[in-house]
Amino acid sequence: MEIDVKKQDENEMVFIVRDAEVPFVNAIRRTAMMQVPKLAIEDVFIIKNDSAMFDEVLAHRLGLTPLVSDLESIEGLVMPEECDCDAEAGEYCPRCSVSFYLSAVGDGEGTTKVVYSGDLTCDDSRIKPVYDTIPLLKLKDNQEVELEAVAKLGIGKEHAKWVPTTVCAYKQYPEITFNLSENIDFAAADACPRGVLVANKEDECIEINDIENCSLCKACIRAQQASGSNYVNVGYRENDFIFKIETDGSMPPKEVLLKACDVLDKKADEFITFSKGGSK
Ligand code: SF4
Repeated sequence: MEIDVKKQDENEMVFIVRDAEVPFVNAIRRTAMMQVPKLAIEDVFIIKNDSAMFDEVLAHRLGLTPLVSDLESIEGLVMPEECDCDAEAGEYCPRCSVSFYLSAVGDGEGTTKVVYSGDLTCDDSRIKPVYDTIPLLKLKDNQEVELEAVAKLGIGKEHAKWVPTTVCAYKQYPEITFNLSENIDFAAADACPRGVLVANKEDECIEINDIENCSLCKACIRAQQASGSNYVNVGYRENDFIFKIETDGSMPPKEVLLKACDVLDKKADEFITFSKGGSK
C-alpha cells in the first residue's frame, strides 16, 4: 500500500491511498469518525439563567461547542470509564474532566448582549473553545447567566459532539478514457460541472483538467448519449482511493488519522488474540 499526501493544513488533509481494499479504507473512515477521543462538554450545572433560552438548549449548545483536543492539550486526561473516580455519583476529578465557568450580565442599557464561546473560562490554560466567536445566548438589560460546565473525553459512537471530523470520506480514483473510434460530442465537456473535461475545438479533442476533481457524477456520459456518442468513458480504479479528512478544529486531521490507525491496530490485535482462544 502506498500513501501520497496531496494537501495538509491544520483543518484539512487530502491523500491518495493506492493498492488498498474497500473494507480497509472504510474501516479507517469509520474509526476516524466514531472511535477517536476528543473533549466535549458533558454535564452543565446552571446556577442562574435569566435569558430567554431554555437551560436544556443552552446545555446542548455548550455540548456542541468544539474544544481544543489535540494530543498535547489532552495529555494526561483519561476516558471517564478508565478513571477510578465515581462520576456516576457526581464526582469529578482532574484526571478525567475539565471544568469551564461562564458568568455574564446584560448591559442594562436596553441593548442585547451576546455571550460567546470565548466568554467561557477554564482552570486548565491548555483547554479552551476552538473558536471564540460562537454565539451561546443573548442577555437583555440586567439578565444574568452563571454556570459550570464539565467537559470529558468521549467518542463519536456515543454522541455527535465527540465526532472530531466534519468531513471524513473517500472516493475511488477516477479513470477517464476516450474512445477515438466514436464521434466526438463536445456536449460531454460542456456538461461537466467541475471543469474536469475541457473542449478543445481547434484540435478536435476533449482534454482532462485535474482528474482528481472528478466526482464520478457521469453528467458527461448522459450529455453525450443524446447524440448516441460513446466518446468519453468514465470509470474508476478498484484499489486506489482519494481520502479527505476535515476536522472541526479540535485536532489536526493528521492526528485524527494516526489515532484512528492506532485504535484499528488495537482492535485487530484483540481480534487475533480472541480468535486464538485468548480473552480480550
Ligand atoms: S463524471 Fe462528472 S465530474 Fe467527472 S468528468 Fe464526467 S461530468 Fe465531469
